[in-house]
Amino acid sequence: SAPVETKLIDGKAIAAEVRSEIKKSTAELRAEHNVTPGLAVILVGSRKDSQSYVRNKKKAAEEVGFHTVDIVLPETVSQEDLLFELEKLNSDLKVHAILVQLPLPKHIDEAFVLSKIRVDKDADGFSAENVGNLCMKGGFPPLAVPCTPAGCVELLQRSGVEVSGKNAVVVGRSNIVGMPVSQILQSMDATVTVCHSRTQDMVSYLRNADVVIAAVGKAEYVRGDWLKPGCVVIDVGINAVDDASKKLGYRLVGDVNFAEAQGVAAQITPVPGGVGPMTIAMLLKNTLNLARRSLQLPRIP
Ligand code: NDP
Repeated sequence: SAPVETKLIDGKAIAAEVRSEIKKSTAELRAEHNVTPGLAVILVGSRKDSQSYVRNKKKAAEEVGFHTVDIVLPETVSQEDLLFELEKLNSDLKVHAILVQLPLPKHIDEAFVLSKIRVDKDADGFSAENVGNLCMKGGFPPLAVPCTPAGCVELLQRSGVEVSGKNAVVVGRSNIVGMPVSQILQSMDATVTVCHSRTQDMVSYLRNADVVIAAVGKAEYVRGDWLKPGCVVIDVGINAVDDASKKLGYRLVGDVNFAEAQGVAAQITPVPGGVGPMTIAMLLKNTLNLARRSLQLPRIP
């Protein structure tokens, strides 16, 4: 078939648009209700990647006018002391959203700690109740939606991609990305197939996919000739590959072979500059919506 003209989905620009909308709503909330959305982040240990994520989240939160609280705990902190800090945030009226940066050190029971975040302060939307509501039809809407999946869907919506009735293939089924994104797409009336490490003949599913969400965690795993011409690709992967020509000695690539997807996909997100910036924008949106909920105001969509 004739090559398709591939359009870039500019996550950086779309995230900036979302952040400016949030900044405006935040100013309105303060003017009308005298409330400033508050985001608290708990960071345990000194992993460089976690430190950098937390720094970026804090910076973005301050830029839209949020109140921020950082709790930094040593790698050796006991679970009890961590829960004590978390409890303080649960009862802090200025904090509307709490995020525990993952991964936690091995001696701490991650699922247990996450379960102790008040559900109406669950910034990441990872609690069983929020995930349950995300999956249920006609129930209560979740109070917060996992940020990376929400970011993927926001990119589709703001790029004019209609998913209703379309075939969507999600590669990956993690709690953080694959599972929730597949649930959101299903709630938007896509026909969703979830592929994972035990899937046989994944290519046969991808060849039929109008929308592909790649969240595998393997550099350039999805090849161009696996894709259906004219499909839309959201590449969640962030993988460092050695590159001697770069100052840092590596470059970042996605889970999809970007060069090969050119001329096949109708639209594709770059890495970096695609899903990454959206994740933080959606964290801000969750925080704003949790603050609005504390005032019994409706969510902003
Ligand atoms: P996980 O490692 O938790 O999950 C990877 C998923 O891919 C699993 O479900 C696994 O299957 C599946 N998988 C692994 N190998 C294969 C294979 N060969 N074929 C098919 N499926 C396979 O990763 P995450 O979901 O946390 O993250 C995925 C990627 O997204 C990573 O590159 C990560 O860095 C990136 N990421 C980016 C974010 C952003 O803000 N842009 C945020 C979060 C993640 P199984 O379940 O069978 O093991």
